[in-house]
Amino acid sequence: MDKLSIVVPCFNEEEAIPLFFPAVEKVVNQINDLLVEYWFVNDGSEDDTLSQLRRLHNKYPERVHYVSFSRNFGKEAALYAGLNATSGDFVVVMDVDLQDPPEFLTKMYDSIKTGEYDCIGTRRVDRKGEAKIKSFLSNQFYHVINKISQTNIVPGARDYRMMTRQMVNAVLSLKEYDRFSKGIFSWVGFKTKYLDYHNVERVAGETDWSTWKLFKYAMDGIADFSQAPLSLAVWLGTGSFIISLIGIILVIIRRIVEPNSSVFGWASLVCLILLIGGLQLLCIGIVGKYVGRVYMQSKHRPIYIIKEKQ
Ligand code: UDP
Ligand code: MG
Repeated sequence: MDKLSIVVPCFNEEEAIPLFFPAVEKVVNQINDLLVEYWFVNDGSEDDTLSQLRRLHNKYPERVHYVSFSRNFGKEAALYAGLNATSGDFVVVMDVDLQDPPEFLTKMYDSIKTGEYDCIGTRRVDRKGEAKIKSFLSNQFYHVINKISQTNIVPGARDYRMMTRQMVNAVLSLKEYDRFSKGIFSWVGFKTKYLDYHNVERVAGETDWSTWKLFKYAMDGIADFSQAPLSLAVWLGTGSFIISLIGIILVIIRRIVEPNSSVFGWASLVCLILLIGGLQLLCIGIVGKYVGRVYMQSKHRPIYIIKEKQ
């Protein structure tokens, strides 16, 4: 009999958990010859998420398990901890807010069972109910990152996916501290099939992803999976060097051709100093972003800390 592990990161989801569990149970109980285990990860919630999970575990001690963090470590860390705890032949990762439709589990399982694919992912084809500016920025993000990174990031792909044990082990073997799952799932390779669906809104609670937070997340994703910004610093430096060479030559020629001419205005000089200074700071900042990542990684801190596990 095959075993399916369901990994669910939860952060302040006391309202969603009681809706999520029966909805998923209804679907997985219809699949024949399948053993199911749940791994909920309480990512340092401040509400009653943990007691909800304890209650579920006490009711179904064999089926429902949880890992509870000592504080909020972020969804990426929660995913890693959840995957680490699983023992199933297949593992599916899903959000607790039912934005990842449970009905897909049957289709995913049927597809992955054929052995043709290592991963069945999902992809949102629209972003109904979301701010225009958010959709616009997100489209631009996919456009840019796919231009400058060797790792292909599929537009609209969700973390909601079913993977084989082999692929899960590959994901777990990437122990980097700054985790960008969208990139990691694609980086490990394997054959992935995408199921398309329309955006669904949260059942309960609120997302804590503001546009600004998403923007920062996108920038981190770029720094994690591309070195193009570092090359940008090199190109900016080279460009301004060439322009200044041309400038010097022009000044010398003018001096020779018109020996009595006055100096050029100081305003243009100030602008130039500001421009060069700005470029330098920008480049240092870009380098700093990567140095920061090296710094964090070199500390070898754990990705998460568990306070309680059942
Ligand atoms: N989540 C988490 N830690 C966090 C933030 C979110 O584990 O710090 C979980 C959250 O409980 C949910 C999933 O990650 O199950 C997706 O979060 P959310 O719905 O807020 O994001 P969105 O669907 O808007 O991308
Ligand atoms: Mg959500």
